[in-house]
Amino acid sequence: MNAPDAEVVRVRGHVVTVTCPYCGRAHAHQVEHLGTTERRGPGCGLFRSTTDRTTGYRFTTRREGTQ
Ligand SMILES: [Zn+2]
Repeated sequence: MNAPDAEVVRVRGHVVTVTCPYCGRAHAHQVEHLGTTERRGPGCGLFRSTTDRTTGYRFTTRREGTQ
């Protein structure tokens, strides 16, 4: 199953805040490398179904120093 895209709303250092396609709220994720597409379990995973939790969502960050 394809993970839906989460919109990146803020990047501060390596902490990326995204809008969750499941609950519509913001979740923050620590990423190791910027400039890649990450797939994560939703920050609200405790309240989601097992399917949603394992599917998660994707988000893409830009490389450091670019906008
Ligand atoms: Zn959520």
